[in-house]
Amino acid sequence: MIETIASVLKAVFGSKSSRDVRRMRPIIKKINELELTYQSFDEDQFKAKTAEFKQRYQNGETLDDLLPEAFALVKAATRKLCGTTYDVCGREVTWEMVPYDVQLIGGIVLHRGHIAEMATGEGKTLVATLPLYLNALSGKNVQLVTVNDYLAQRDSEWMGLLFKFLGLTVGCIQSMMHPELRRQMYACDITYGTNAEFGFDYLRDMGMATDVSQLVQRDHFFAIVDEVDSILIDEARTPLIISGPVAVSTHQYDKLQGSVEQLYKAQSQLANTLVREARDIFNNPNSTEDDISEAVMKMVQVKLAMPQHKQFLHVLEDGQIMKRVERAETNIRSEQNRMLFEELRSELFFTVDIRNNEADLTERGRTMISPKDPDAFVLPDLVVTLQDIDNRTDITEEQKLDEKEKFREKFGEKSETLHNISQLLKAYCLFQKDVHYIVQENKVIIVDEHTGRPMPGRRFSDGLHQALEAKESVTIERETQTMATITIQNYFRLYEKLAGMTGTAETEATEFHQIYKLDVTVIPTHRPCIRKDLTDSVYKTKREKFNAIVTEVLDCINRGQPVLLGTISVEDSEILARMLKQRNVFPKVLNAKEHASEAEIVALAGQRGAVTVATNMAGRGTDIKLGEGVADLGGLHVIGSSRHDSRRIDRQLRGRCSRQGDPGSSHFYIALEDNLMRLFGSDKIIAMLDRLGGGLPEGEEIQNPFLSKSIETAQRRVEQSHYAIRKRTLEFDDVMNKHREVVYAYRKEVLYSTDLRPMLFSILEEELMLRIREFFEIKEDKDDRNEVKTFLAWLCTTFPVSVSQGQIENYKLPTGAYDIDGMFTFVLDVITKAYEEKIKFESDEDRLQMERGMVLEAIDRLWQEHLHAMDLLRTSIQLRAYAQKDPLVEYKSEGYAMFAQLMHEIYQNILRNLLRPATSIHAFAEILKQMSRDEFEQVLNHPGQIPDVIQDQLNKLNQESSDHDKKTVVGG
Ligand code: ADP
Repeated sequence: MIETIASVLKAVFGSKSSRDVRRMRPIIKKINELELTYQSFDEDQFKAKTAEFKQRYQNGETLDDLLPEAFALVKAATRKLCGTTYDVCGREVTWEMVPYDVQLIGGIVLHRGHIAEMATGEGKTLVATLPLYLNALSGKNVQLVTVNDYLAQRDSEWMGLLFKFLGLTVGCIQSMMHPELRRQMYACDITYGTNAEFGFDYLRDMGMATDVSQLVQRDHFFAIVDEVDSILIDEARTPLIISGPVAVSTHQYDKLQGSVEQLYKAQSQLANTLVREARDIFNNPNSTEDDISEAVMKMVQVKLAMPQHKQFLHVLEDGQIMKRVERAETNIRSEQNRMLFEELRSELFFTVDIRNNEADLTERGRTMISPKDPDAFVLPDLVVTLQDIDNRTDITEEQKLDEKEKFREKFGEKSETLHNISQLLKAYCLFQKDVHYIVQENKVIIVDEHTGRPMPGRRFSDGLHQALEAKESVTIERETQTMATITIQNYFRLYEKLAGMTGTAETEATEFHQIYKLDVTVIPTHRPCIRKDLTDSVYKTKREKFNAIVTEVLDCINRGQPVLLGTISVEDSEILARMLKQRNVFPKVLNAKEHASEAEIVALAGQRGAVTVATNMAGRGTDIKLGEGVADLGGLHVIGSSRHDSRRIDRQLRGRCSRQGDPGSSHFYIALEDNLMRLFGSDKIIAMLDRLGGGLPEGEEIQNPFLSKSIETAQRRVEQSHYAIRKRTLEFDDVMNKHREVVYAYRKEVLYSTDLRPMLFSILEEELMLRIREFFEIKEDKDDRNEVKTFLAWLCTTFPVSVSQGQIENYKLPTGAYDIDGMFTFVLDVITKAYEEKIKFESDEDRLQMERGMVLEAIDRLWQEHLHAMDLLRTSIQLRAYAQKDPLVEYKSEGYAMFAQLMHEIYQNILRNLLRPATSIHAFAEILKQMSRDEFEQVLNHPGQIPDVIQDQLNKLNQESSDHDKKTVVGG
C-alpha cells in the first residue's frame, strides 16, 4: 500500500533525483554561457585562468562560487582538445569528447559529495574531471579511486591530457611503487589509484613512519570513488591488513623444553603416588577420620601440582570427596595456614593455578633443573637491589646509574625466561594433544573447543603456541603480527568530502546513506535508453536452463548479433564455455585475473558475432561499443545465466548494453535449483517445486506470473541479510576505529613535534600524580601494606633516581595522612634534575631524534599488541552470545578497558625510557671530553670496539695531552 502511494506521488511530483536535477538547470545554463566566452582562449590563457581561480580561492571565494566558471573552463578546454592524438597505455587515442549537459549535472552531484548513478557508457571518466579540477583549485590533493591498477593508469593518462592542458599535475599510484615515487604522485594536484593502495599508504604513514620525511600522503580532502558500489559494498568485506614478523624474538622455548619435560615427568610420578595413596585410604573401609583428612590433603597437593591429572579427576568424581577437597583447599589458602600451605608446596616441583592461568616453579623445581645455581630462576627483589646500589659508597653516581641499568636489563632477561618456563609448564599440564590441539605436518593446530574443528592458521597468544611447538618438537614458528589494519569503510570516512559514481547505486541507497552519509542522485541518460528487458525464463533444473542458454547463444550467432553471457560463478562460466565449444562456438572467457587484457576484450565484446562469457561484470570499468552494422541486428544481447544474490549486480550486467541510445536487449535465466531460489525463495516456490515433481516434460519452460515477484523478494531478503552482516562487522570495527584514531593522532603529534619535552613532562606529571594519589591518598579500607615501599618500587623501576625511604616519609603529616602536593613537587624536582643532567651533553637535534624514536617505539609495539589482544577478544566474545549477552556491548566495554590500559602502558614505557643514560655517540664524546686524565686512561685500557666518532675524540684528546706534558698515550 505504502509502495503504491509512493509511486503515485512519484508520478505526480517526480522523484527526488529528478527534482534535484531540475533545480540544476540554471547552473548548467550559466556554465554553457560562460563556456562561449572561453572558446577564444589559447593554451596559456587556460593556464592563467586556472592560476587565477586558485588565487581567488585563497582570497576567500568558495569552490561553490567558482563552480560555474571552473566547469565552463574545463568544457572549453575539452572542445579545444578535440582531434588531439596521444598515447594512453601504449595505444593511440584521439580526444573527441565535450561534456553533455547531463555530464555537467553529474559533475555537480559529485562536487556536492553525493553518489552519481549514471548508466554505463554515459562517460563517467570525463564527468569526474569536472569536480576533480574544481576541488584541486583548493591546492589540496584530490583523488580518484579506481577498482584496479590498470584503470588507475589508463584513466590518469587518458584524462591527464585535459588536466595538463589546464595547468594541473596528475599522478597515479601503482601497487609496486617505491615510496619516493608515491610521494611525488601525491604531491600532484590530482592522484589516481586503487582503494587498497590509498588505504595501505595511509596505514604506512600513520602507523609506521618514524620521520616526517617518510610520509607520502598529503591530506584526505576529497575523493571520488569510481564503481562505488563495488568498492564500498563488495570489497568492504575484507579489511586492509599490513602484517610483519614480530620485532624481536628472544624466546628460549627450545632451550628450556628439556628441563620442563624433566620437571613434568617428576611431578607426574609424584602425583601418581599421591593419588594412589589417597584412593587406597578412601577405598579402605577401616580408614579413620584422621586417615581421610590426610588423604584429602594429598588430593589438595595434587590439585596444586597438576589440576588436570587424570586419576585425580577420576577420584574427584565422588561428590563427597570433591566437596572435602574444595573445602580443604580454601582453608589451606587462608593466611593462618600459610605454613602448612608452604609445606605442601615445597614437596612439589611446580604449581599450576587454573583459575589465574599461572604456573610457577618451586624451590625443589629450581634445584632440579639448575642444581648448581637454583637462584638462576628467581627474580631478585627489585627494590632492595636498586636501593642497595644507591647506598653504595664505593662508586660514583654515574656508575650507580650504570649498575642499575645493567641490573634492570638482567632483570628483564630473567623475567622472560621465567615467563617461558611458565608457558611451557602450562603447555604440558593444561593442554592435551588431540583434545586441545592436533599435530599435523610439523605444525600445532588449535582445535575449536565448541565445534571440534581444527583451525589452521590460528595461534595461541603470548608464547603459548610456541611452548606447545617446543613440547611437540615441531618447528617453532616465528610469530607474525598485524602491524596495522583498517576497514575500507573507515578509511573512506577519513575524507572531508567523499563522492562516488556507478551505474547501480539506487538499490543500496540506504546503506550508502547510513554508513557513508552518501546520498544517491540518479542522473538521466544523454539519450533515452531503448533496451529491451525480456521476462525471465525459469526452468526446473540447472541442466535444462543451461541447454536453453546455449540454444539462445547459437541463435544470436547465426544472426551475427554479439552476445555477452554473464554468470555468477567461475564454475558456471567454465561449464557454459565447455558446452558452447561442443557446439563449435569459442567464446572469450573472463574471470578477473588479467585486468589490462580483459578490459580490452570487454571493449571488443560488441563486435559482430562476438561471444563473451564473464563472471561478475561489476566493476570492470569499460563500456562496450557496437561494431559496424550491429545496431541493425538489435545491438548487444546480454544473457544472465542466473539471478545474482543482489539486484545491483544484475543491473550492472544488464546495463552493459544499450549505451548512449544504442539498441540492445537482456534476458535472465533461472532454475528452481539455483541457490538463491532454494535458500531464500518463498514457501510458494518450494511448494511449486514439489507439485512439479516429475510432471513437467524435460526442457520445458515454467510459466508462472508469481515467479518474477518471488525472485525479487528472494533477492531483497539476501540483500538485507548481507547488509545486516556488513553493518555488524562495521559496528565491531568502530570500536577499534576509535582506538586507532586516538593512537594515530597521538603518533602524528609526536612525528611533527619539534620539541617533545613539554609532552614528555606532561605525561610525567600526570602519571606521577596518579601514582602518588594511588599510593598515598587515604582510602576507606586502609590495609596494612607499606605504601612507601611500594611507591619506591614503582619509582625506582621507572626512573634511575635515588630517593630514599626517609625522604618520602618526610611527607607524612602528624595526622598520618601524606602531603600529596609536597611529595609530588619533590619527586618531580628530582626527576627533572636527573633529566637536565642527562640532556646536558646532547644537542637538541639528537635529543629530539632519540626521544621521538623512544616514544614511537613504545606506541607501535604496544599498539600492535593491542591489535592482537582485541582480535582475541573479538573471537572469544563471540562465544558469549550463547550466554545471552550481546557480544557487541561486551566487546565495547572490555575493549575500552583494554584501551585505557594500553594508554597507561604506553605512558609507563615512555617514562621508563625517559632517563635512559645518554645513548647518542656525540653526547658520549662530550662526556669523554670532560673526563679526568685517570678516568680517561681507564677507558683507553679497555677500548673494546670504539666507534669512529669517539675514536676521533680520543685522538684529539690524545693530541692535546701529548702537547701538554709530552707523554704519549697509546690506545689499545
Ligand atoms: P562509463 O564509465 O560511464 O561506462 P566511460 O567513461 O568509460 O563510461 O566512457 C564511455 C565512452 O563514452 C568512452 O569511449 C568515451 O570516449 C565516450 N564519451 C564519454 N563522454 C563523451 C562525450 N561527452 N562525447 C563523446 N563521447 C563521450
